[in-house]
Amino acid sequence: MIEIAARMSRFEESASARASQIARALKAQGRDILALTTGEPDFPTPEHVKQAAIEAMRREQTKYTNIDGMPDLKRAIAAKFKRENALEYAPDQIIVGAGAKQAIFNAMTATLEAGDEVIIPSPYYVSYFDIVRLAGGEPVAGRSSAAEGYKLQPDTLEATITPRTRWLVLNSPSNPTGAVYSYTELRALMNVLERHPRVAVLSDDIYEHILFDGRKLQTPAQVAPGMYERILTVNGVSKAYAMTGWRIGYAGGPKHLIKAMAKVQSQCTHGPCSISQAAAIAALDGPQEIVRERSHMFQQRRDFVVEALNRAPGMHVPVPQGAFYVFPSCEGVIGKRTPDGKTIANDRDFAHYLLETEGVAVMDGTAYGAPGHLRISIASSIEVLGEACTRMQRACEMLA
Ligand code: PMP
Repeated sequence: MIEIAARMSRFEESASARASQIARALKAQGRDILALTTGEPDFPTPEHVKQAAIEAMRREQTKYTNIDGMPDLKRAIAAKFKRENALEYAPDQIIVGAGAKQAIFNAMTATLEAGDEVIIPSPYYVSYFDIVRLAGGEPVAGRSSAAEGYKLQPDTLEATITPRTRWLVLNSPSNPTGAVYSYTELRALMNVLERHPRVAVLSDDIYEHILFDGRKLQTPAQVAPGMYERILTVNGVSKAYAMTGWRIGYAGGPKHLIKAMAKVQSQCTHGPCSISQAAAIAALDGPQEIVRERSHMFQQRRDFVVEALNRAPGMHVPVPQGAFYVFPSCEGVIGKRTPDGKTIANDRDFAHYLLETEGVAVMDGTAYGAPGHLRISIASSIEVLGEACTRMQRACEMLA
């Protein structure tokens, strides 16, 4: 028998990927399932981006590229960082990977020694935890409450730092809460880190363009230019351009770190798909209006879902500031009984109940370090969201 390594028991497979798979399998069995589990835009990839990929294939751009990305894509990324974030990254300060996820994986693998700690504000994107564990590090949750807008507070950060802390991971707009740090909030966190020179910052800006109510992204390298040498800015085309399947993400950071990340990548994937890289150039260099239009549509969906779900007894839905999730508390239904006499003991039971009785698939908050909550993706049409909200309202009303 082939034995599985001990390291495999240190981390979990992606909970949302698993939940989406279950929803797809139930649908394939003919059940009427509304899947609000996925973290990907429901919109198509823009036409000019697809066209660029077709042209790349025709040009026979189908061979290995540089491990850290094609020079022309790095140029487009540098231009994006400058245009949208006022950040200067030279080509040797940029790496392109198979998704933002690979950039995060590369960074953790390249830097963590066994037992090194990484502070991850909670509720969190669970992959940060598992990637850190896979790299041999120790993820440490930096707690934040709904009353704090689910944003890490400077005194919590200070109290969470130990001599073993190597990174703080920030994700604004946040998956799962939609929290967006303002300039002042981010500056206050950076002030703390200025006193701890060994702690680096990984800023995952993947939801940069899905921002509501006129907000603008603040990113650590811009807010704290004095800390530029210890900040890694991660981004990608997945969410902004509806390109999750193309697998292109990137990072800008200090040259020696980027070089180490490229070394990891060289023995992992060799680098991202050549055709997808050509498509990413078209996305970054092309018209950006579509990004704003889609963000506006997400805002309309957010308003609709927050309003509808706040009418469901037992649910309390704060207003997200960005990204495409709502993150309600479902503490009000815990302890209630279902029509067939089962007690809803926690958020997992509640998510299961919604799937079983109404065919609505959502993520439980426990998967994000926040028991008593649900994460509901709003990356579906208003029609689907309307039907899902009606079903969830009905499910809540049936509880006694
Ligand atoms: N970071 C966050 C916060 C995410 O939600 C996701 C996708 N769910 C990723 C990174 C990964 O993005 P990519 O498709 O670029 O790997």
